[in-house]
Amino acid sequence: MNKKDFPIFKNTKFYGKNLVYLDNAATTQKPQIVIDEFSRFYENFNANVYRGIYRLSEEATSMYEGVREKSAKFINAKSNEIVFTRNTTESLNLVVYTFAKSILKKTDTVLLSLMEHHSNIVPWQILQKEIGFSIKYIDINKENFSLENVDSLLEIKPKIISLTYISNVLGTRNDIKDIVKKARKINAFVIVDAAQAAPHIQIDVKSLDCDFLTFSAHKMLGPTGVGILYGKEELLDKMPPLLGGGEMIISVDKNKSVYKNAPFKFEAGTVNFADTIVFGKSIDYINKVGMNKISLYIKELSFYLYENLVKINGIKIYGAKNDFGIYSFSIKNIHPHDIATFLDEENIAIRAGHHCAQPLMKELSVYALSRISLYFYNTQEDIDKVSLSLSKISDLF
Ligand code: PLP
Repeated sequence: MNKKDFPIFKNTKFYGKNLVYLDNAATTQKPQIVIDEFSRFYENFNANVYRGIYRLSEEATSMYEGVREKSAKFINAKSNEIVFTRNTTESLNLVVYTFAKSILKKTDTVLLSLMEHHSNIVPWQILQKEIGFSIKYIDINKENFSLENVDSLLEIKPKIISLTYISNVLGTRNDIKDIVKKARKINAFVIVDAAQAAPHIQIDVKSLDCDFLTFSAHKMLGPTGVGILYGKEELLDKMPPLLGGGEMIISVDKNKSVYKNAPFKFEAGTVNFADTIVFGKSIDYINKVGMNKISLYIKELSFYLYENLVKINGIKIYGAKNDFGIYSFSIKNIHPHDIATFLDEENIAIRAGHHCAQPLMKELSVYALSRISLYFYNTQEDIDKVSLSLSKISDLF
């Protein structure tokens, strides 16, 4: 769907072969309209935002704030509930070092799951060293790869629950709405890592009722260097800033500073206004195609991929058939790096490694896996190509 809008598929011909890009959970390709926006901005509107009392700076500021509004609308939030960061990782770190740090005590528990990305594990461990709270992990059911025994872990009354919406390894979608409902009964806060969800499903933070939600522009056709942190207005208002400097203040004197309101107090220094403005075009593009259409198309393609993968001799898929086209697998005892290298010779790009989820790898008793992840510019032809190549690799061993 819409492959012609993405110039990389016309331009890139390594080994004389067309590119088959199947590493979309890592980052997505960009349509021409997004690429063109870089030139349009720098050729016509470049000026630092908030600072200039002149037309050019005001135009840039209004474009930047326009993207905040668009991002808010994209997930059914209010504009002042959107903080721009560098990526999902920075968004999660910001919540941990400001919000979590201000409420956690030594006796508290933070509940994560074994399918978390390192971005939702490491910051907690760093803060744990300072405060000394406990970190507990929700198990994974090895039959259907869903979260297991959530209810019994909620009985220990965690203060914060921080979970991925869709796993970047297993393709599992967690029932965040249900978990938030249960969390409310024990007064726990819920943080959602939506890095893989935002490109795939319509997110509605009001309906989810989560406290924070994070995602990255580069995983949804946008530029690198732009992350989104959604936080409930009343929580953002109470949180201290993480970084100081630039335009995040109302006033500064020798002994103290007065901060602006959220979200501005969290955006210190010169913000990444150019990339953020370009990200606005990615949202426009996704909205034009339609998130429902994108979800349905990927679901069909995901099932087609699954049916093809299960036919490969010696394959083991770590995850259930899913709607998002995310499948991690091993084939016989072939090293995932060998699989990726073999596919690269066909100009087929997949991911091989621990997928920044080492606790999950340990739980699955593997050190690394190969992963295919789809986006809506992929086609059945791409899947036929990778399936054929994977069968050839399997036959070699
Ligand atoms: N969380 C999940 C589930 C991810 O898949 C990723 C990236 O793959 C991240 C967090 C981190 O995203 P970023 O590298 O954009 O910060």
